[in-house]
Amino acid sequence: MNNQIRTIGLMGGTFDPIHYGHLVTAEAARCEFNLDRVIFVPSGHPPHKESMRITDPRHRFLMTLLAITTNPCFEISREEMDRPGPSFTVDTVKSFLELYGPEVKLYFITGADAILEILTWKNVEKLMGSCYFIAATRPGYQLEELQDCLQDLPQKYLDRIFSLTVPAMAISSTDIRYRVANNRTIKYLLPETVEQYIYKNKLYTVF
Ligand code: ATP
Ligand code: MG
Repeated sequence: MNNQIRTIGLMGGTFDPIHYGHLVTAEAARCEFNLDRVIFVPSGHPPHKESMRITDPRHRFLMTLLAITTNPCFEISREEMDRPGPSFTVDTVKSFLELYGPEVKLYFITGADAILEILTWKNVEKLMGSCYFIAATRPGYQLEELQDCLQDLPQKYLDRIFSLTVPAMAISSTDIRYRVANNRTIKYLLPETVEQYIYKNKLYTVF
């Protein structure tokens, strides 16, 4: 598609709502791993959140769009939102490889907590063979801890997982939703445009 693009970071998530934890992580990954761009991929139907109430994809897409506009290297994709059925990472990675060509290097950016669920993901071996992973960890968290949990994976796959220390790990969408429902401030946890969007559309009034 675009010959100049060699390395892409994919930031998957529910983004319900997007917050500075996601944005700081994406930007740190871009800088540390020399990514040409980071593409945010809001999930349509996350398999691990099936039983939970999730905000309409339209709102989650627009909030993510509002959050990334000031970074010229950030983009958003409807890939998972437009695909019917559960959003499996292996399918998402396959679509992006088809779109950008097999020579592009894809880094899937995720929190360390999320990568620990990796063994439960669909086609984990295929997934590990088709992209690299950047696992965001709290300062002081060792990659060895992560590797202990992933020890059933062959070394060739472990070699594809990199860790990245991120200072804003304590922020979570769950906490933001809880705060809104309880009339607590969410200022400085997420971009102001997203904060205004939440209030204007009366999102998260019930936790
Ligand atoms: P929820 O509380 O609803 O689970 P969340 O804050 O974890 O939401 P998600 O949309 O589930 O946000 O996360 C998308 C990705 O971002 C996941 O890989 C997750 O591990 C990672 N992530 C979430 N919060 C942070 C944070 N504060 N810093 C770095 N990465 C994060
Ligand atoms: Mg989460």
